[in-house]
Amino acid sequence: MKIHEYQAKALLQRFGVAVPRGFPCFTVSEAVAAGQQLGAGVRVVKAQIHAGGRGKGGGVKVVRTDAELEEAARRIMGMQLVTHQTGPQGQTVRRLLVEEGADIRQELYLGMVVDRNTQQVALMGSAAGGMDIEEVAAHHPEQIHTVQIDPGQGLLPAQAEALARRIEVPEALVPQARDLMLGLYRAFVDSDASLAEINPMAVTGDGRILALDAKFNFDDNAAFRHGEWQDWRDLDEEDPNEIAASRHGLSYISLEGNIGCLVNGAGLAMATMDIVKLYGGSPANFLDVGGGATTEKVTEA
Ligand code: ADP
Ligand code: MG
Repeated sequence: MKIHEYQAKALLQRFGVAVPRGFPCFTVSEAVAAGQQLGAGVRVVKAQIHAGGRGKGGGVKVVRTDAELEEAARRIMGMQLVTHQTGPQGQTVRRLLVEEGADIRQELYLGMVVDRNTQQVALMGSAAGGMDIEEVAAHHPEQIHTVQIDPGQGLLPAQAEALARRIEVPEALVPQARDLMLGLYRAFVDSDASLAEINPMAVTGDGRILALDAKFNFDDNAAFRHGEWQDWRDLDEEDPNEIAASRHGLSYISLEGNIGCLVNGAGLAMATMDIVKLYGGSPANFLDVGGGATTEKVTEA
């Protein structure tokens, strides 16, 4: 399950991570009011969709006056935002985050994933954070540093400090960066995340370390112990077929192709998709009806 940036920031804040002051907004007039509440000065209007690359697609606007803020909110709210993660059809913007602008000196990257190879959580960091991190990962993987976290010990302060130094956090701010990483790890474990990203983590002119962007994906298998996820879910961001399928307890993923697959068992479903591909076809979906499927469930499938 994915959540919005403003929700991820609220989660991080609960674990002591510093984020800019900001408000989620569902209308342009809410955005204008939020901007006034933040006071004069640089503010940022940010499209909230479940995809990254919003800055490059025109979904993030730094503004200096109330008039600029209103104009940006009008332009972004309702737009069809196309990024490298949305596909060519884009995603409609229905929510905004209006937050304080930061005086950015450095943009660093932090990412956290469950690493299946090591069966541990891996923390990745890079001095080359910001909007070009995909380029860095593709062409300069040596600029991304990885720390493996022992699940018994958790992230150690010394590991976090070493990573902070490798990604060129100024020495005086290493303790702040360390504490941010420790907070990120606690948030990750506590919320059963599968992926988290803070990109950029900013070093500011007034000597602070701030999470300027935040992304969290949760492991759906843990939904039973996270009642709060129901409130965080945004059905507008989800595929209607996948919503319908989850309502009937079916494992269904929409795909690009044109050959529908209806299969009993996840392994057989994967093998079926492989065979379709092998012979030059393209599956329209993954669908595991499950072993004990009833007439009703198969009908829905
Ligand atoms: P995305 O990753 O989807 O492009 P980000 O939230 O990372 O969106 O924003 C893109 C860029 O906009 C950041 O790399 C940063 O340079 C700038 N930015 C984002 N939030 C702020 C902020 N609160 N203050 C100043 N600049 C910001
Ligand atoms: Mg970002």
